[in-house]
Amino acid sequence: MNVVDRESLVGHLKPATTELLAPFASPQGLDPDLERFLHATASQLCRWLGHASSGGPLPNLSVLPAVAPEPDGLGMDRLLEDLQQVMDGSFQPSHPGSLAHLDPPPLTASIAADLICAGLNNNLLAEELSPSLSRLERQLCGWFCSRLGLPDSAGGVAASGGSLSNLNALVVARQAVGLAQNPDAVVFASIDAHVSLAKAVRVMGLRDDALQMIPVDDNGCLQLDGLEERLQALRLQHRPCLAVVATAGTTVRGAIDPLQALAELCAREQLWLHVDAAIGGVFALAEATAPMFEGLGQAQSITVNPQKVLGITKTSSLLLVAERKALADAFATGLPYMEPAWGESHGGEQGLQGTRPAEVLKLWLGLRQLGESGIAAVLSAAVDRRRILQGQLDHDRLRLRTGPLHLLAVRPVRGDQAAIEGWSLHTRQRLLDHQLMLSRPLYEGAYHLKAVLGNPHTQADHLHQLAEILNASTAGLH
Ligand SMILES: *Cc1c(COP(=O)(O)O)cnc(C)c1O
Repeated sequence: MNVVDRESLVGHLKPATTELLAPFASPQGLDPDLERFLHATASQLCRWLGHASSGGPLPNLSVLPAVAPEPDGLGMDRLLEDLQQVMDGSFQPSHPGSLAHLDPPPLTASIAADLICAGLNNNLLAEELSPSLSRLERQLCGWFCSRLGLPDSAGGVAASGGSLSNLNALVVARQAVGLAQNPDAVVFASIDAHVSLAKAVRVMGLRDDALQMIPVDDNGCLQLDGLEERLQALRLQHRPCLAVVATAGTTVRGAIDPLQALAELCAREQLWLHVDAAIGGVFALAEATAPMFEGLGQAQSITVNPQKVLGITKTSSLLLVAERKALADAFATGLPYMEPAWGESHGGEQGLQGTRPAEVLKLWLGLRQLGESGIAAVLSAAVDRRRILQGQLDHDRLRLRTGPLHLLAVRPVRGDQAAIEGWSLHTRQRLLDHQLMLSRPLYEGAYHLKAVLGNPHTQADHLHQLAEILNASTAGLH
């Protein structure tokens, strides 16, 4: 078939679909191309979500479509086909066996809000580029502050992930405690604190030993007397403390450091207390789980990641500070190319990011969709699933590492290091063969298998199957 024939054939068979879409929606009346394209992509996405449990959490085979743009643009059909190939190779958080990480299925209102966010294409850098959304972010941060017990002077800012919120927090703390010029400053956190703190102190140009790790007790909580000893030692070295970081929900087992005691210690010693509540923070919103976070409101700063438990689509993280002025004190540069802020200061002067999408939209709409009762239900169901699994595990053969939230890690009681590493690889694969995906963190020097039970699609029979496989997995270890 020659080229002309082929083109006329394609044109004949697919008259409407090979035509190019207008790349920018018409500003003069509803654009039919855009509407058609959005309907088609939305229905493709709905099918992908709807087929979540027909495969496993991970794709079998992933083939990428061509990456480089072709000489001429593609029509809708080709775009949808290419998209489908990428979707087919994606991790499927909505599969009931997706239990490996803090990556739950997306809330439906959050998906819709993300689409609207893209369509609005506003910029949280400055008020004139996001008039309503800048206010929405300020007010929603204010709501979080008051629910978490921070004072009226508090405020916050969104950032693209908890790592960035933690970095923002330490930069704000350093400025506020007057150590901006001091590379000797030290940050204390427990040995179970998140790796983002190590990254933050590196970026901040502090010394190699700037992050000092305090031992944890049997429950994975920071040991207070360990911290007191290290503070004493620091004084003898004439080095200043930049901040104490408590973790409310550690990454492997969901432990909550003793917030009230740490708040009292920090008040007494006049130290900045940052709480990395990336995981736990949202649990403080619900009446049933809030009592675990007593003392949280006395912190100077708090990181919260609603992306991790509630299903707010990525990324969704907030840094909340007790004195909202502290954000601009650390980050304001003046934005000479912008009109003055209508509110207190521009979004781009509250943290490290300049241009930012309105991530607040999917957080706000997601919370509105759930309501207080829905938020509480998602959280308590996650904790319940952890309890159920915990109750079904063989405690004689498996050593459990867990806490009051929805995370649980196990490793065999018996076996040397090499045997346990082999167990972890083999058992993770065996679980994947049954479409159950756990992660394999190295914790206390040994590989564990970790279940994060925040997936609302996980049912009692999945948990039962998971427990059976884990219980049987230690046979042969001595
Ligand atoms: C996940 C996590 C972070 C980092 O959040 P990202 O959004 O992945 O950058 C920080 N602290 C804790 C405790 C976490 O679990």
